[in-house]
Amino acid sequence: MKKAVYPGSFDPVTLGHLDIIERSAKMCGILIIGVLTNNSKTPLFSVEERVNMLKSVTKDLPNVEVKTFGGLTADFVRENQAEAVIRGLRAVTDFEYELQIAQINRVIAPELDTIFLTTNLNYSYLSSSIVKEVAAFDGDISAFVPPIIAEKVKQKMADRMKSE
Ligand code: ADP
Repeated sequence: MKKAVYPGSFDPVTLGHLDIIERSAKMCGILIIGVLTNNSKTPLFSVEERVNMLKSVTKDLPNVEVKTFGGLTADFVRENQAEAVIRGLRAVTDFEYELQIAQINRVIAPELDTIFLTTNLNYSYLSSSIVKEVAAFDGDISAFVPPIIAEKVKQKMADRMKSE
């Protein structure tokens, strides 16, 4: 593959995401990480913060780019002349939703394929929401995210406490 897009919220990026990023970057010329700006969930981090965090944890991967997008994933993929969407699958619970999205994308953009990478077993339980939940109760998140992200999450939680 020349180009692929890995879309998501990355609020924040976890070791599970990073594993998918590293593995899929080996499968294509350029991997574009697409950070969704119009998610229905209220994010902990702003889009700019999420982009900066992704850039810092992927700085040693020369063929990885980080961009933002709103609207349809299929349109973003087309605009970037990419051939495929990368998604990660953790458990059966992900499957039904992911299958539906992949099929919708194929109707909207028939030339587009979705490639699923199964999670690294070490991270199969891991999600951005779990990281935020543990951090909100002052738990140790160092096994879930890179050290620089753990710092950012801690700082964000502390800022929140102050403003409450
Ligand atoms: P979204 O809001 O689109 O689900 P996420 O940032 O939560 O965005 O996830 C982006 C992608 O990464 C999804 O395909 C998701 O299944 C995958 N993913 C998330 N966590 C993991 C993990 N621990 N292992 C493998 N894939 C994961």
